[in-house]
Amino acid sequence: MNKLIDDFLTPGTNRGIYYGGMFQKPSHDGVIEVLNPATAHVFTTVPDATAIDVQAAVTAARCAFDDWSELDPLDRSRHLHAFADILRANMSSLALLESTITGRSIREMNAQMARIPEWLEYFASIAIGLEGESNVVKGGYVTMTHYEPLGPVALLTPWNHPILILVKKLAAALAAGNTCVIKPSELAPVSSLVLAALATEAGLPDGVVNVVTGGPGTGAALCAADDIHYIDLTGGTATGRKVASLAGERLIRTTMELGGKTPIIVCEDADIEGAIAGTLFSAFVASGQTCVSGARFLVHDKIYDRFVAGIAARAEQITIGDPMDEATQMGPVISQKSKDRCMSMIAQAKADGAKMVAGAGSLGLSDPFSNGFYVRPTVFKDVEPHHELFLEEVFGPVISITRFSDDDEAMEMANTGTFGLGVSIWSRDIARAHRLSLKVRGGVVWLNDHHRNDPRSVWGGVRDSGFGKENGWDALRAYLTKKSVIVRTAAGHDDWFKGSSRYG
Ligand code: NAD
Repeated sequence: MNKLIDDFLTPGTNRGIYYGGMFQKPSHDGVIEVLNPATAHVFTTVPDATAIDVQAAVTAARCAFDDWSELDPLDRSRHLHAFADILRANMSSLALLESTITGRSIREMNAQMARIPEWLEYFASIAIGLEGESNVVKGGYVTMTHYEPLGPVALLTPWNHPILILVKKLAAALAAGNTCVIKPSELAPVSSLVLAALATEAGLPDGVVNVVTGGPGTGAALCAADDIHYIDLTGGTATGRKVASLAGERLIRTTMELGGKTPIIVCEDADIEGAIAGTLFSAFVASGQTCVSGARFLVHDKIYDRFVAGIAARAEQITIGDPMDEATQMGPVISQKSKDRCMSMIAQAKADGAKMVAGAGSLGLSDPFSNGFYVRPTVFKDVEPHHELFLEEVFGPVISITRFSDDDEAMEMANTGTFGLGVSIWSRDIARAHRLSLKVRGGVVWLNDHHRNDPRSVWGGVRDSGFGKENGWDALRAYLTKKSVIVRTAAGHDDWFKGSSRYG
């Protein structure tokens, strides 16, 4: 096992923040406790970085920027491939670390980790193929464009997929020639520190990848730092509004990957067993804590009872327990606050008159997991469009099911509210499914599947779910600006003011 990861898997390891190619002692002793959500025990601490620490990390990123941005894309690409190799070589221990801190089951983390290096390989590869244009234009000119990176950029990440979401952003930012300062979520900050140190181990120059840990205050200090020229945030909509306002004041560009309330539309002509299996996965993988978790189920009248009975039965059978046990299918939610939110929304759904068809009963967990932040997979049927559970993001394993009788009604209910992120549509009639995909509000629509993600598959929301894109060429271009160079090829020179000057 890699010594560094081994070290961070040891409870209580706190090596400081990371900038300039090494762990650094922060400016004061304040720390944030990081809990293991499966037991509620403190696993470790990380520094609660101040504005002074943030400035030091930004300065390191600024110092590294000129050399990194001037590297030929081919040479940057070699660095990113080396980084991908080191992640691939350490996949299982990174999965272990991620499971310990997020409570996500080891089965899930092993599956997710296996694909993470692909983001680095993809952006390393496409950046080589990014070519400017040139045009011969009217009047004797050639215009050409060059892509230029933006400078040091801020990457603010959430806790639900700490490594995946970070690598999506980091790969595009670095391939484009930017240097980065990362501010991971205070609830799951450790793997970002480890990744930065692994980037150095892979040979990336010092200062190219830097990490400051802390809460919203640390994030705000980073967004306000003079030398930050782009902010890429994945987080809640409320955070998005604050960060985008600050970026607006500063006139710097942003990407906002925010919250959602994902509609799942199950038509009467769907493969019902396939739809139950697929939508169960949509709702309960990651304990329902993804921005595109299946949440607002809309099920056609004709199959409503059969579908509800099927998904409720399957939800009851999900194995909950120790995230490190290969047999565990679902771990806890991230925190007591998240658990409380789930419980409060369950209570409100009951009070609103929706019917709970899965999720009652005890968790039946023994020590040390009896103290963990576990919530049973919970299914409510007969939820109405004005109910809280229909409208608000839970970010936990609690779903709502509502019936519809025709496609117009399904669309009206799917498009209720202000989010627009993930959607999935389940139908054997591909023309119908495609027709619905054109009408539904969302940034990522799956037909007869859910959660599938790939470096080439563009990702991002609309309205209160944010703006800007991850993945694909759009993500790479977001981290670049185009410079236009106009060359005169016409013979001689012009003299517009000829004769107007007293010397003329
Ligand atoms: P959050 O908004 O609480 O935090 C996200 C990050 O922003 C953290 O690093 C946090 O410390 C930082 N932050 C918070 N306030 C800040 C401020 N004022 N200034 C600067 N930084 C600040 O989100 P979370 O609880 O970590 O994540 C859950 C949310 O993320 C959910 O709403 C979920 O839908 C969303 N999410 C969206 C996507 C997507 O791709 N659209 C993916 C995953 C999660």
